[in-house]
This record gives sequence, C-alpha cells and structure tokens, in this order.
Amino acid sequence: MKALLLTGPSGSGKTTLAQLILEKYPQFVFSVSATTRSPRPNEVPGKDYYFLTEAEFDQEIERNGFVEWERLYSGYRYGTLYRELERIQALSQVPLFVKDVKGTLNLQKKLGEGAISVFVLPPSLQVLRERLLQRSPEPPADLEERLARAEFEIQLAPAFSFLLYNDDLDKALRRLEHLIQRHFS
Ligand code: 5GP
Repeated sequence: MKALLLTGPSGSGKTTLAQLILEKYPQFVFSVSATTRSPRPNEVPGKDYYFLTEAEFDQEIERNGFVEWERLYSGYRYGTLYRELERIQALSQVPLFVKDVKGTLNLQKKLGEGAISVFVLPPSLQVLRERLLQRSPEPPADLEERLARAEFEIQLAPAFSFLLYNDDLDKALRRLEHLIQRHFS
C-alpha cells in the first residue's frame, strides 16, 4: 500500500511538515489517530485526533480495532484505527501518517512495500527542549519524559527509509518535497 509515514521525536517538526505537505499535495490525506489525552486549545476533534475516553479506547482494543497502539507520555494511549485506513482507502488517496517511532515501525511492517518512512531529526536535544517549551504558554508537564524518549528514538533513526534533518523548516520542507516528487508522482 502506498503511504507516507513521518516520524521523529516529539518536537522534531514532523507535524508542521505534515501540515505543509497536506496543504500543497492533495493526493495525501492525514490519517487521524485515536488518543486518550485531552485536546489542546487549537485542536479539533475528528481532524487532529479522535479523542476517546479510556473506556472507549479499551473497547477498540477488545474488538481488535487498532492496527497499532501505544502508551506514551503521561500514560496516555495513541493508536491507528483500521476504520481510519478504510476511510482513506475509500477516498483513493495516499495516507500520511504522523506517529511516534515505534508506531511507525509497526505500521511500516504492516503496510509493506510502497510505504515510505521519513525520520525527522532535530538539530540537537537542546533545540528540541526549546521547541517543546515554545509550543504552549506552560511547559508541558511531561517535558523531561519527551526528551528522554527522544534520546531513545534517535537511536532508532537508521531503521527508516529516509532521514530528514530539520535544522531549518524551509530547507527541510524542500528536501521532503523532493522525496515526494521522486516516490509519489
Ligand atoms: P502529542 O501528544 O504531542 O500529539 O503526540 C505524542 C506522540 O504520539 C507523537 O510522537 C505522535 O506522533 C504520537 N502519535 C500520534 N498518533 C499516534 C498513533 O496513532 N500511534 C502511535 N504509536 N503514536 C502516535
């Protein structure tokens, strides 16, 4: 199945890059994840995430509704619903996934050939810390957890199809567009 998978540590810029790609390339459609965390002020349910209660998430696990799921920051769970893949397939568009590193590895295995994975690499852990602090007026309660996980995730970077160094958003976008033109046109 043709698919574009963007991954990288929290704060690497993968979501921003995904938004820019979605604006410019109509063949891609964002795969909306399910999560048990609460919406951030700017997030729209059904567009950014399907916000589920713990009980609703449990029900989806019981009925084998997830392609993959994981427990991440502050114990919240995140997952890719089979239903969501079916929705995108019915649109005859290419799914764009933005997931954590382990979730992306699992998805890549399930989707097989045609799935291109891109690991977005921040210039340094210090830059990552600054980006996470800038993201909202309050530093995230799980900041240290996100940074510790970033160190672990960066070690897994060689497992992906491409590495995308995000020192500068415009440059990273251009590199990503180049890759898309080679693989998806
Ligand atoms: P955030 O809470 O910052 O929106 O997301 C936290 C992390 O969860 C990010 O690295 C994000 O990419 C990842 N994530 C979002 N959706 C999924 C999903 O469906 N599965 C997995 N494994 N990770 C996800």
